[in-house]
Amino acid sequence: MTTSGPKYDVAIAGGGPAGSSLAIRLANAGLRVLLAEQKSFPREKLCGEFISPECLVHFAEIGVMPAIAAVRGTDLRETIFFSQRGKGVAVESSWFGHADSLALGLSRAEMDRILLEHARAAGVDVREESSVSGLLLDGGEVSGVAVRDTNGIAVEAAARVTIDATGRTRSLARRIKGRETRKRAATHVAFKTHLTGASVLPSACEIYVYRGGYGGCNRVQDGLYNLCFIAASADAKRLGSDPERLMREVVFTNKRAAAAMADASAVKPWLAVPIERFGRGELVPARGLMAVGDAAAFIDPFTGSGMLMALESAKIAADAIVGSIVKELAFDGIAAEYRRLYAARFNRRLRVCSVLRHAAFVPFLAGSLITALSLSSKMTEGLARATRAGA
Ligand SMILES: Cc1cc2nc3c(=O)[nH]c(=O)nc-3n(C[C@H](O)[C@H](O)[C@H](O)COP(=O)(O)OP(=O)(O)OC[C@H]3O[C@@H](n4cnc5c(N)ncnc54)[C@H](O)[C@@H]3O)c2cc1C
Repeated sequence: MTTSGPKYDVAIAGGGPAGSSLAIRLANAGLRVLLAEQKSFPREKLCGEFISPECLVHFAEIGVMPAIAAVRGTDLRETIFFSQRGKGVAVESSWFGHADSLALGLSRAEMDRILLEHARAAGVDVREESSVSGLLLDGGEVSGVAVRDTNGIAVEAAARVTIDATGRTRSLARRIKGRETRKRAATHVAFKTHLTGASVLPSACEIYVYRGGYGGCNRVQDGLYNLCFIAASADAKRLGSDPERLMREVVFTNKRAAAAMADASAVKPWLAVPIERFGRGELVPARGLMAVGDAAAFIDPFTGSGMLMALESAKIAADAIVGSIVKELAFDGIAAEYRRLYAARFNRRLRVCSVLRHAAFVPFLAGSLITALSLSSKMTEGLARATRAGA
């Protein structure tokens, strides 16, 4: 059954950090916003759960910092990259903010729940267990979304601007004929669980490189450690996609990982997702439709900055939408402004990461880079900052 729903200024698909933070910013500016999320929150999410220090500035701006602080995540002073032989180079969290800046280890179940609840409190029409199942089209222009809930009830919601915040699946962009309709074969598979008993430095995020991938572990809340790793699809297939075997036979080829996880055990079910590609998607897949967060570009997880890009792209999308509505611009004006702000903010870091990616998946190259960087903390700082740089 399909019913016509109310009209919105903006309809957003996806309640991850990009969708929820954008919804909060738009609602705070007085816009009518729909946010449809296919899952019921809180839900576990595959992620390194390393929240870069700059994210906390966004959390303060949108008013969620007290709720985030109340969960008592782990303050993280540094990220240490370990070569396969166990040599480490440290990246200080303070390089990404001010002298006292700390990153935060916090589960995505908690972080995403807080953001979604705050969106609801800000006046957003939040609908959980509701998938965007189609796009409304008006003369080739996207004019809203069809949303279907778990009871099979479908609603058509008209909106001036529609946002794809569905993460790496880019599920709205894929619906545009001729764009991204074919799924690519996954080159990598990512796994994650929460552990007890890991011997990871308490205020560090540790990153381990090995053949075909890398993994990371840091403490989150409640004394738990989040372990998240990426393996080559060929290795995953060879080992029957068994995360415990992959951990022992692939991740533990990194000496430091083997030592840190020797007494660890998983206390949550493992999650797994395929990774089809890194880098850019389509910013404006069609007239009326814009992408934010991973749906716009997926930055390499070793940077620990995917959530930051989600929050930043949401902020500039909000600036473009709110500013253009004030100036009474049509969608093309909003899209042009979003493209301009996005390029200025992200082009350089995405270029830097596409170069570093080659080293990240080859232990010899990664090991050589770690050895070279361990000789100069200035050089390490310069490179680390380049993964956050603008145009
Ligand atoms: C292995 C790995 C490790 C990572 N580690 C880190 C890290 O440590 N730190 C960091 O900052 N980043 C990390 N990232 C990146 C980070 O997870 C993403 O950048 C971030 O989640 C992007 O947020 P988003 O809101 O764009 O998308 P998502 O968080 O993916 O949210 C998308 C939401 O859309 C919903 N959805 C999907 N389709 C529909 C639909 N049709 N209708 C309605 N809802 C829908 C989904 O249920 C989901 O809740 C990692 C990523 C990977 C793969």
